[in-house]
Amino acid sequence: MEEIVIYWGILIASAVIALAIFILLFFVSAPYGRHVRKGWGPTITSKWGWILMESPTVAIAVVLFVVSDYSFELVPIVLFVLWCLHYVQRDLIFPFFLRTNKRMPLLIILFGLIFNTSNTYLQVRWIFHFARETGIGPQYLPDWLVDPRFIIGVIIFIVGYIINRHSDLVLRDLRKPGEKGYKIPFGGMYKFISSPNYFGEILIWIGWALMVWNLAGLLFVFWTLANLFPRAKSHHKWYLKEFPDYPKERKALIPFLF
Ligand code: NDP
Repeated sequence: MEEIVIYWGILIASAVIALAIFILLFFVSAPYGRHVRKGWGPTITSKWGWILMESPTVAIAVVLFVVSDYSFELVPIVLFVLWCLHYVQRDLIFPFFLRTNKRMPLLIILFGLIFNTSNTYLQVRWIFHFARETGIGPQYLPDWLVDPRFIIGVIIFIVGYIINRHSDLVLRDLRKPGEKGYKIPFGGMYKFISSPNYFGEILIWIGWALMVWNLAGLLFVFWTLANLFPRAKSHHKWYLKEFPDYPKERKALIPFLF
């Protein structure tokens, strides 16, 4: 079977699963972090859960970069560097600074592994191979760097990255090493919403989708929304229930709106 057929097959299957997950997560919170509970099978520490679950994003991207015919072209390299900027942080830095005693079910890790493997393949293989093979969409030649879609995409990606990093650091600093409980976060975008780390993450992948301007990028935005929209709603509800003095004007995920 030709690889492009496999590629489209994975993309379509992934879109169908994302839709099912989106609906499911409004009824069942993914069982990790504050929503962890019994009945989801064996668990490991959150730190190792994150490292394992996110590992394909760097490993597979590097392999696809190495085997590509366009490894030394400017635009694919810029995209590759931005991808790694996010995922080296998420896989190899973020987990080591977590201050949590929570454990993660292996089931969640397995699901994350499958998602990250297929998603990294869809994103990186297109940039480094199928864009030219099929001739569909941007060819990622040097003039793409001055295309408005690319420029606006980079700006949104960087703004999202800063919001995501800052908001995750605010959460991390809420606990001293060894502390367990939860507190109300303040500062930065927490003035407006309960989950600015998720808001930043969503911006990152909207920026990415604009930069790559292909179906895989669009699908990644949908996946991110499918995961984080229902989770932000659950977090917000949880804060309101746990803290009677929780700021009333704060929304869940989108400033002033939701
Ligand atoms: P959370 O906001 O649920 O938790 C992040 C960390 O902060 C955890 O260690 C958590 O501890 C701690 N924490 C959260 N709230 C508080 C609080 N009020 N007081 C004290 N500590 C707190 O984020 P996730 O774990 O869901 O996600 C982590 C990162 O991964 C985020 O940047 C997110 O954007 C990204 N992500 C991306 C996804 C995607 O689809 N692209 C999907 C999921 C996450 P504890 O574990 O004890 O609750």
